[in-house]
Amino acid sequence: ALKEGYEPLTEATAVQLIKDLGYFDAHSSLRCKEIGDGNLNLVFHILDENDKGIIIKQALPYAKVVGESWPLTLHRATIEGNYLKNAIPLVQELVPQVQHTDEAKALTIMEDLSHLDIVRTGFISGKDYPILSQHIGEYLAKTLFFTSDFGCNQQVKKGLQQAFSNPELCKITEDLVFTDPFHVSETNDFEPELIGTVETLWEDDSLKLEVAKLKYKFLTCGEALLHGDLHTGSIFANETTTKVIDPEFAFFGPVGFDIGQFFANLLFQAITRSDEKKDIILFHLHQVWDTFIQTFTELWQTASVEPFTKTEGYLEHVLEGFFHDSIGFAGCELIRRTIGLAHVADLDGIEDSSRRLACKEVAIKLGRELILQRSSISRTNEIVHLLEKVK
Ligand code: ADP
Ligand code: MG
Ligand code: MG
Ligand code: MG
Repeated sequence: ALKEGYEPLTEATAVQLIKDLGYFDAHSSLRCKEIGDGNLNLVFHILDENDKGIIIKQALPYAKVVGESWPLTLHRATIEGNYLKNAIPLVQELVPQVQHTDEAKALTIMEDLSHLDIVRTGFISGKDYPILSQHIGEYLAKTLFFTSDFGCNQQVKKGLQQAFSNPELCKITEDLVFTDPFHVSETNDFEPELIGTVETLWEDDSLKLEVAKLKYKFLTCGEALLHGDLHTGSIFANETTTKVIDPEFAFFGPVGFDIGQFFANLLFQAITRSDEKKDIILFHLHQVWDTFIQTFTELWQTASVEPFTKTEGYLEHVLEGFFHDSIGFAGCELIRRTIGLAHVADLDGIEDSSRRLACKEVAIKLGRELILQRSSISRTNEIVHLLEKVK
């Protein structure tokens, strides 16, 4: 049942709401455009005559999945607002400023970031964003450390876990990332030429055993508050600035999931870019992990709430586990974005069909190798070696 007070906004009612809340001078003439893709959420971009802007993001009470509408909780707007407002006081410069949230209307009013690029779109057009991986490495280390049992009061954390209970959004990930791509499912979506490769995956019991273990970890391991959807379409950037958006999937899960999703979305660019333009992507792959471990280590040494963090060997053990999980989750993301329901423009946007299919074959093979070999990989360089091997 819908909450009282909820109604999807239109461009006209969005303008009225913004005026009522007093964000613009009563006499200013405002323009408004809905700029979301409309599958899950509405995003209204409102501008005054001086081009000063503001964004309203509103959840819709359904998701369009394979053409049909499925009810989907409006509570995800509250999760998104709470994540942006409260959970990450130490990364404020890396997220949009939130002006207002309204739980009943399922909306968040936030800073307009349209002067920046969505990283996926910029990457596809050949842009580099040199500071991106340092910012994302810091973002990951800080958000994950301060919501983990290493950096967060361990009783407070248990309360936060309840506040960020997000079962309906988690189910989307459980099905679309971990289950459906590895089985015959009507949610899968791949080009007919890939059927041989896909059937080989479905028959690969050694791979399915490893995916089952990764899914179980996602289901059961409440290590830290994850963003939950940290792909390059959830990041705005330019040469000097990075802003992470869209944390509606946030919940307490395994640290490696956020890191692995970012790895995989870099790897789509490593797969598709020409050799001359690829180095910066590989730099980002190394730099995000190096920055993560450096920042996480500093926090471990200076801001720990857990007495065992002083114990020799414990940090190395924890970081090694994060890394292996990240590699495995990256493998799942590579596969699901290639043959599952939600694709990426990095691959689908390649017009030449033989090159597109070749890149998709590489993404699937690299995904499989990462999942199977994750426990014997200890450096980001080895990811690059595996990429070279499957090409
Ligand atoms: P969804 O959850 O539906 O994917 P997003 O939060 O990713 O919604 O937003 C969808 C799109 O809306 C983004 O890709 C971007 O183009 C635009 N958008 C979202 N937030 C902002 C913002 N703060 N400033 C400018 N544009 C935004
Ligand atoms: Mg979208
Ligand atoms: Mg979203
Ligand atoms: Mg999004």
